[in-house]
Amino acid sequence: MTFADLGLSDELLRSVADSGYGEPTPIQSAAIPSVLMGKDLVGIAQTGTGKTAGFVLPMIDILHQGRSRARMPRSLILEPTRELAMQVAENFEKYGKYHPLSMALLMGGVQMGDQIKALEKGVDVLIATPGRLMDLFGRGKIMLNDCKLLVIDEADRMLDMGFIPDIEEICAKLPKDRQTLLFSATMPPPIQKLSQKFLSDPKTVEVARPATANVNIEQRLVEVRADKKKDALRGILRHEEFKNAIVFANRKTTVRELASSLKRSGFAAGQIQGDMDQSDRIAEFDRFKNDEITILVASDVAARGLDVKGVSHVINFDVPWQPDDYIHRIGRTGRAGLTGIAITLATREDSEAIGRIEKLIGHKIPRAGGKPSEVPASVEKAAAEPAKSDKAARPKPAKAERTRPVSPAKQKRAAKAEPEQPSKPSPVLEDIKSEWNGPLPSFLSVSAD
Ligand code: AMP
Repeated sequence: MTFADLGLSDELLRSVADSGYGEPTPIQSAAIPSVLMGKDLVGIAQTGTGKTAGFVLPMIDILHQGRSRARMPRSLILEPTRELAMQVAENFEKYGKYHPLSMALLMGGVQMGDQIKALEKGVDVLIATPGRLMDLFGRGKIMLNDCKLLVIDEADRMLDMGFIPDIEEICAKLPKDRQTLLFSATMPPPIQKLSQKFLSDPKTVEVARPATANVNIEQRLVEVRADKKKDALRGILRHEEFKNAIVFANRKTTVRELASSLKRSGFAAGQIQGDMDQSDRIAEFDRFKNDEITILVASDVAARGLDVKGVSHVINFDVPWQPDDYIHRIGRTGRAGLTGIAITLATREDSEAIGRIEKLIGHKIPRAGGKPSEVPASVEKAAAEPAKSDKAARPKPAKAERTRPVSPAKQKRAAKAEPEQPSKPSPVLEDIKSEWNGPLPSFLSVSAD
């Protein structure tokens, strides 16, 4: 099947060709014709499958007709995190370049004044995280009665983050005669209920999980004692031939400690976790993208949806609590046809979680040697050695480091807040702008308060 078979306009076919896509992905082939016909859709698919273009492309053609009115967005896309919201906005910029639509992004971390100004001009597409949307709705700054197209993206993640009551409230405020698209990697009962309640006779499309289909990721499991995990990690980082690595930990406190400890050991490491301001997250992400740092220690919430081309390694310092997160995490490598390596450190206590992951991915993760209670010999030996002078292990000059001292009281508060929640907003429009690759989208060019 080609993109031309899907019923998209010539302008969209051109922007798709400009993006360098040869043919539609399975979710795109299945979803686009139905969405263009105005049908509701449940897409069981996750990031990495091309699902974003699966809804953005037909939306552009649908919204091309008609005009927006002040404070009354014509369509709404709900995203669980700011990073995902920004990526969807980027997709609209990329695919909509031959018939640009007006857009606004509502999310924590951007001054509300700018968002209100954008809304008052009238927008075709509103991309929002549920909390900020509810906030603006409560202030009477937004009306949803003209919003005829709703996308609920990453619904299972919304569930994990406690957003389902907000989504129900938002759905109830939209007109009944609307089109609704819901995307989720899994369909736990609350999401099934949500879809039964708010979608009408939806077409269901399910695509294979990229992790099981993605033969480009070599997975390994290193069994290690809990008190040797840091040594094992350092050993891996010193001995693996890697370009760059994302190291995942389950808790924000672990992310912080690990990033500091790796820096002390001479690694060019940074961190990204939900306690950080949006500006710090973006700055750190940019440093990783620009190869200023080669190791990014990350938590799941902050890292969700991060799309960096050419990440050579993903290392799970902690085994994720949710098996789905394993797939999300390792999917940060092996993207765009490149190969990648995913290494998971597992203790005896993790055996149940590993079992659930292996059940989900449908195979055992190859063990990298050693008995469950020991650090593998090569890793243990490596842990005792100083950092090699390779790029990854080279210490960064002091000025490049951006350590943020954290008070004991704050650490205590943060530990209490585990597992991670979306972080507090902060006024950083300028930093959001700096995240952008290419021309600045019109909805970000409004001046800051
Ligand atoms: P998503 O699942 O929406 O996060 O998309 C994952 C990646 O796939 C993004 O980097 C897209 O640019 C890319 N992508 C989307 N559609 C296609 C396609 N038809 N062919 C190749 N790459 C694609």
